[in-house]
Amino acid sequence: MNARPKKSFGQHFLHEKRYIERIVSAISPKDGDVVVEIGPGEGALTLPLLAVAHKMTAIELDTDLIPDLQARAAAVGELEIIHSDVLKVDFSELARARGVERLRIAGNLPYYISSPILFHCVDHSSAIQDMHFMLQKEVVDRMAAEPGSKVYGRLSVMLQLACRVEPLFTVPPGAFRPPPKVDSAVVRVIPLPAAERHDADPRRVHDIVKAAFAQRRKTLNNALRQVMDSEAIRSADVDPKARAETLSPADFVRLAKVPVLPA
Ligand code: SAM
Repeated sequence: MNARPKKSFGQHFLHEKRYIERIVSAISPKDGDVVVEIGPGEGALTLPLLAVAHKMTAIELDTDLIPDLQARAAAVGELEIIHSDVLKVDFSELARARGVERLRIAGNLPYYISSPILFHCVDHSSAIQDMHFMLQKEVVDRMAAEPGSKVYGRLSVMLQLACRVEPLFTVPPGAFRPPPKVDSAVVRVIPLPAAERHDADPRRVHDIVKAAFAQRRKTLNNALRQVMDSEAIRSADVDPKARAETLSPADFVRLAKVPVLPA
């Protein structure tokens, strides 16, 4: 306990009890839930969660933290720690191994790879019931942003096409050791049920959203030049002179569904 936090692993250990309690109560694990924590660190969230869930799994990259956490958890419940980079963990496989359809994912994420972790979870969203994450507040703002907002962008569209995003509360730097330079926030992310998910080609959606926001000051006909022409944009009921930041996630789906003509 009280290991020297490693910057290279994005370690900012949460120590303020009231935020820990708010996170555990937001998750409220029920009997039979399989909770998976990303980056348990010294166990600030793990031990209180384990006390309610009785059995859980944690994924930690830093070997040095594992023996102590494993020893302290033994008195509280059954904790399995997977020593791995979370980006290499197949959540669908993990859900099968734990005998459930869907996992409940939680974590005070290492901020240096928070976006890749979010996209990794979205890729496995059919195996996930919900996620509760501590992130930089600025990232949570981008995830939940609406069209027209200054921070609305690729992350907002890709997340909102797959999930419901619910910002919960802000956490100040002083709640962590060492304090990060920025405010943090806790967010709940719930994958959309199959019936509410879009049926466009995910690759095509990805390519169009990426191109549109790569040059967000340009009009769509310029920004999307490499992926579709003005006629195709218009056929999706979207104004080619509009900018990406004004389009809703549903507009992007319609753009992705315009048939691609052979070159
Ligand atoms: N959950 C603890 C807390 O709230 O005090 C620690 C949170 S700290 C911000 C992030 C944790 O993620 C650290 O324990 C770090 O070692 C771990 N970590 C960093 N990169 C990781 C990765 N790629 N896969 C899994 N865990 C990682």
